[in-house]
Amino acid sequence: MLSADFLHLEKDVEMVNTYADIFHLDIMDGTFVPNISYGFPVVEAIARKAVKPLDVHLMIVHPEKYVERFAKAGASYISFHYEAAGESSAAILEQIQSLGVKAGIVINPDCPVEKIFPLLPKVDFVLIMSVFAGFGGQKFIPESVDRVRAVKAELVRIGRPEVPIEIDGGIGPGNAAQVIAAGATMLVAGSSVFKAEDPVKAIAAMRG
Ligand code: ZN
Repeated sequence: MLSADFLHLEKDVEMVNTYADIFHLDIMDGTFVPNISYGFPVVEAIARKAVKPLDVHLMIVHPEKYVERFAKAGASYISFHYEAAGESSAAILEQIQSLGVKAGIVINPDCPVEKIFPLLPKVDFVLIMSVFAGFGGQKFIPESVDRVRAVKAELVRIGRPEVPIEIDGGIGPGNAAQVIAAGATMLVAGSSVFKAEDPVKAIAAMRG
């Protein structure tokens, strides 16, 4: 939703309700990432109209301070960055799950995937960033495909092949097939949908 038209948000919410599967909400704090996006009033407004689940991606320091409030705002999925949480990651995953929300761990392109392997028995999903968190409209980093493949292989190895792998950053009809083949099952598309001449067609192309 970072690429949505905030003057006509309801129109974009209806489009997602009708044609997409999930609302992906990027929350930036100006500290963990250099950018600031939007906060609770926007998330709550979207929640009032959303019929598809809300997926909140926290790009913030101290995610544990805010997960309860995002759960109350209507999130069905909450993810936070391993780089922001470090040793507290396991406890925060449990905190999110105790709120009845699916819990995910996120890593930026420069974080070795092995860092999150100890958390894979606990997670409900994994989010692999295919650009550096912080801004919409960036170009897909091709090495991300191998990172998805490595996480998928580890999930298979530990007997949890069903855990969804989400990918976020520069995703569109041009690379959807490639990331799906590597094991991604949740594709976050911002600019490739909202900046497309025909957003519905862009979504259909990715489904294809
Ligand atoms: Zn995101």
